[in-house]
Amino acid sequence: MKNNMQNNVFEKVKYNCIGCGLCESICPKNCINIKEKSNIGILPYVDDKKCVNCGLCLEVCPVNLIGKKEELNNIKGIFIGKSKNEQIIKNSSSGGIVSSIIIDLFRKNEIDAALVAFYDRSLNIYGDFITSEEEVLKHSGSFYHTSKMLKNITKIKNYKSVLFVGLPCQNAAFVKFKEKFNIQNDYARISLFCTIGRMKNGIYKFLKENKIDFEKEIENSVTKYKSRYGTRRPGDIILDTEKKENIKFSSQNYFLSNDYFYTPNGCLNCKKLFGVEFSDISVGDNWGIETKEKIAIFTANTEKGLELIKNNNLIHLNKSNIEALKKSQPLGYPLKYKDRNLINKKIKFLKFIYRISPKNRITKKVLYKLRSSILKGITRRQNGTI
Ligand SMILES: Cc1cc2nc3c(=O)[nH]c(=O)nc-3n(C[C@H](O)[C@H](O)[C@H](O)COP(=O)(O)OP(=O)(O)OC[C@H]3O[C@@H](n4cnc5c(N)ncnc54)[C@H](O)[C@@H]3O)c2cc1C
Repeated sequence: MKNNMQNNVFEKVKYNCIGCGLCESICPKNCINIKEKSNIGILPYVDDKKCVNCGLCLEVCPVNLIGKKEELNNIKGIFIGKSKNEQIIKNSSSGGIVSSIIIDLFRKNEIDAALVAFYDRSLNIYGDFITSEEEVLKHSGSFYHTSKMLKNITKIKNYKSVLFVGLPCQNAAFVKFKEKFNIQNDYARISLFCTIGRMKNGIYKFLKENKIDFEKEIENSVTKYKSRYGTRRPGDIILDTEKKENIKFSSQNYFLSNDYFYTPNGCLNCKKLFGVEFSDISVGDNWGIETKEKIAIFTANTEKGLELIKNNNLIHLNKSNIEALKKSQPLGYPLKYKDRNLINKKIKFLKFIYRISPKNRITKKVLYKLRSSILKGITRRQNGTI
C-alpha cells in the first residue's frame, strides 16, 4: 500500500525532525534513513518497500517532548567552573566539565562506558560508546552540526553502567528509548545546553567558502576533527585530511558565517535550552561573564547529579544562581523563553532568502544585515550566539 508508514512519518514529523537517529537505530526493518535537505531541515526518509507500518519510530520520536518551555524551579544546584587540568581544558568546549565527569566515573569504576560524539571521514557526527579514560579527550569539544547521537544506542545492552551525553533533544530521545525498552543500565545523563542546531550542509558550505580546493577531499577523507580546540574561547576548528594536516578556522568565524542560515526547521520548534528535565546534569558556556577563558556554567538537575558534581575533585567549582544561568545565555534564553512564532517565521524567511539568492558579496551583506535585525529583536547582546 502506498499510504503506509512513509506517509505517516512525513505527516507527523516532517521537518520537525531533529536528526537524533533513534528511529533509524531501532527500526526492526532497517528502513529509515535520516537526511538533511538543503538548508531547510532534516527528514526521516522511509523505504516504503521495506516498512511494515509497525509504528515504533513514531512511538519513540522525541519531537513531541521538546516543544514546551522548561521548568527551572526544580534545579538542585547551579555552579560555575572548569577542569583543573590544562590538557582537558584545551581539548574541551567550555572548560571540560563533561570530560572531567566522564574521566572521574571511569576512574571510580562507576561506569564501563560513556556514549559520546564520534565523527566519520565525511564529517558525519554520531553517538557511540567509549570504554576507557584514555578515549575521552579524543571525543571532547563540541561539534556544531547535526548529530545522530542515538544511532548506536541499541549497543547499550553490551555494557553494565553507561553515562549518556547529548543535547536536550537527544536526552529526550533517550528517555523515550529507556521507557520503551525498559533500559536499566544508564548510570546518569548529561545534557549540553543548546540554543540552535546547525546542519552539516552548513559546515560543508563554510569549508567550501574557505578552502574551495579541499571540499571534495574533505567529504571523504577527514582523519582528525576537533572543534573549539585551544585554551581560549571559543577556540578553533581543526581538521586533518589525508592530504593536509592542521586546517584551522576560528570557531567564531564559523558561527558568524552560518548561524541561522542552516538551522534545521525542527530546531526552531524546540524550547529546551538546558535539558534539565531529561538529565542529571546540564552543562553550557558561561557567556554572561566577560572573559576569554573557557568557563562553564552547569546545573545539577537531580540528587544524583548533585552528588556527581560534589564528589568530583577534577573540577574547580563555585556556586552560582538562576540569574547567572539566564544571563549566561544572552541569546538563547530570550529566544527560547519568548513567544517564538514570529521569530520562527522570520528565521524561516531568512533561510529562504539565503537559499534562493545568488551568492555574492552584496547579497551576503544584505543577508547578514537581515539576520542582525532578526537577532536584535531577540536581544541586544549578540556575543553569545552559541
Ligand atoms: C550543537 C550544540 C549546541 C550548543 N549550544 C549551546 C548554547 O547555545 N549555549 C551554551 O552555553 N552551550 C551550548 N552548547 C554546549 C557547549 O558547547 C559545551 O558542549 C558544553 O558547555 C560542555 O562543555 P565542556 O567543556 O564541559 O564539554 P567537553 O568536555 O568538551 O565535552 C563535550 C561533550 O559533548 C559531546 N558532543 C560534542 N558534539 C556533540 C554533538 N553535536 N551532539 C552531542 N554531543 C556532542 C562530546 O562527545 C563530549 O562528550 C552546545 C553544544 C552543541 C554540541
